Amino acid sequence: MSYRSDHLQPVERLPGVGPHTAELLLKKDIRTIEDLLLTLPLKYEDRRTITPIAELTDAAKATVRGVVGKAVSYGGRGRLRRRVAQISDDTGEMQAVWFGWGGRDLKRGDRVLLTGQVKSYRESRQMQNPDTSIIDDDEAPRGILPIYSETDGMRQRTWRKLMAHALEKFAPGWVGGVPGWLAAERGLLTVEDALRALHAPPDDAETARLFDPRQSPALASLIFEEMLVFQLGITLRRRQAESEDGIAFDLEQANLADFHRALPFTLSPGQTKCAATFLADMARPVPMHRLIHGDVGSGKTALAMLAAYVAARNGWQTAVMAPTEVLAQQHIIRFQEVFDQLHIRTALISAAVDGRERRRLEEAIALGIAPVVIGTHALLSGGVTFSRLGLVVVDEQHKFGVGQRAALAAKGPSPDIMVLSATPIPRSMALTVYGDLDVSRLEGKPAGCAVVTTQLTPQRERDEAYRQLAARLRNGGQAYVVCPRLSAADGAAADVHTLARELSAGALGEFRLGILHGRMKPAARMQTIDDFRRGALDVLVATTIIEVGVDVPQAVGLLVENADRFGLSQLHQLRGRVGRGASDGVCFLVYDDQCNDQAQERLRILARETDGFAIAEADLRLRGPGEVLGWRQHGLPSLRFAHHSMNDLALLEQTREAAHAILARDPQLQDPAHEWLKMVVTQRWGAVLGGERAG
Ligand code: ADP
Ligand code: MG
Repeated sequence: MSYRSDHLQPVERLPGVGPHTAELLLKKDIRTIEDLLLTLPLKYEDRRTITPIAELTDAAKATVRGVVGKAVSYGGRGRLRRRVAQISDDTGEMQAVWFGWGGRDLKRGDRVLLTGQVKSYRESRQMQNPDTSIIDDDEAPRGILPIYSETDGMRQRTWRKLMAHALEKFAPGWVGGVPGWLAAERGLLTVEDALRALHAPPDDAETARLFDPRQSPALASLIFEEMLVFQLGITLRRRQAESEDGIAFDLEQANLADFHRALPFTLSPGQTKCAATFLADMARPVPMHRLIHGDVGSGKTALAMLAAYVAARNGWQTAVMAPTEVLAQQHIIRFQEVFDQLHIRTALISAAVDGRERRRLEEAIALGIAPVVIGTHALLSGGVTFSRLGLVVVDEQHKFGVGQRAALAAKGPSPDIMVLSATPIPRSMALTVYGDLDVSRLEGKPAGCAVVTTQLTPQRERDEAYRQLAARLRNGGQAYVVCPRLSAADGAAADVHTLARELSAGALGEFRLGILHGRMKPAARMQTIDDFRRGALDVLVATTIIEVGVDVPQAVGLLVENADRFGLSQLHQLRGRVGRGASDGVCFLVYDDQCNDQAQERLRILARETDGFAIAEADLRLRGPGEVLGWRQHGLPSLRFAHHSMNDLALLEQTREAAHAILARDPQLQDPAHEWLKMVVTQRWGAVLGGERAG
């Protein structure tokens, strides 16, 4: 290819990069020259003004260049451990002190650069815990020096040499994906200029600003480029999917009235509206890619059933994938209530079903005898093949990656895909993260859903919370007690066994207690849930395993131990386990009042809000979308710079609009002005252009 792709060459092409350096770079995921140049400094060292030691003034911040004289370590633990070194230059002497581990690798004769606050100490001058670097290069350049990560053994000297070479040989002419007209419109730098500004800042740069995208045109330009390419890739992938032939399900043939008769309730207005949308999708001869957002308890399962019913009546199979055994088992029970009446066979594929029974089921699925197949990740295993897979439903999609969704869909010829999620996110973010899906919201909750009150209970009032819970149970109903994941290492939190023993000897002694956790054998787990559902147990003491899916309408109480250790969305999901029937519910969140501000904020939000959308937004604000949405496991090209900007809704909007404007002008990116862009999109997203099919 042209010089434009030179920077995709391996780092070994740079002078001085032998096998050893290449290996060190590989540990940092740096394979190509592009990877190297896009690795930004961690910080900058300001060597513009170096103060002679004789001129240091008390209490001022200064940078000093000197030579290490005597250096002594004093023992002790933690902050008591310290290292004291004499530092001198042509004008005088001072002392540097590091508490803890700092300064430990300095030795007599090292030339160092120290930045810190000056203190007078017994006649002499001292710096405590100064920012320290050993000057390992001969010329010891002045100016602003970028400092790179030294973990994995790459020295600053090596970084600097490599970057200098790479900048000189490979940056020139590196325009980047943003077309010239757009860069001009938005005042963006080319990648070359951005990289120079960040790796070799001019002497008048303000170092503090280089890493703030609002103040650094260089960083803002790199972020914009990355996000623009991302938006283009996801839009193109979407268009490609739409160009495939899908199944046009016949709704007449399905006879929806039969389904509605079999369903134990009437669909809510929200469900009806959503159903109309996805049924229209299913009727189109293009594969459906639809995400349905609905709060916990909004009734998404019934929608999955309806879709599966339509597929089955059209002679196609459905695979419903759930993230946990518990949820899959729950689903099979509820699906059977409906599908048995309709004489449509269902099958459950999970780790709990093995041996001969599993093989029998796999055969039934391969032959198409079972039209509705429910399962966990086990559905992805090679043993599971479908005769005619026409619909894929992924429940609680935030627990799965895009790759897993695709792997299941690949078991059929372009099946329709329906994705269910209880994590609603702002629209511009959804359009970015789920850009390859249509998004609809399931509004409201089915009639009859009860009110759940939430009480924040500080640890010292824990006994009182249990007394109230017991009183509630004496009036009928069942409850969950949840404690953080089983772990011996967590001193404070009792594990489920200890907690259950304590409760049955005390506060909940009069009730029948069961235990549920992830390390139980699937069969035992199933049995316990079943006992609880039948009312043979009053209380389930559980780990967060009940978070998704356990649906027992008689459950009216929930007590969460150490609630401050759980995330916001997780607590909302847990709370969603109660109030699913006719009776109102109560939820006690027992917390440690010494917990940090963020945890307290989470609990306050929960006490105040019941709306999942509001809670999800608060969660995004507190944790950022990468965390909340499991960005990494989405299987999308990873973002180097822009993941910090996922909260920047304006940027998401702008890049999306720009991507669409570009494609409106030039759908296949054939315009010479888009040559770079085309190259970058192809590099990051594979064959999404020119009618080729991605693998
Ligand atoms: P989620 O959206 O959290 O997956 P579910 O599908 O599990 O919610 O539904 C929650 C509860 O509401 C279930 O017990 C379900 O049977 C019930 N439900 C769903 N739709 C309706 C409806 N239209 N009328 C009455 N109950 C309903
Ligand atoms: Mg559900």
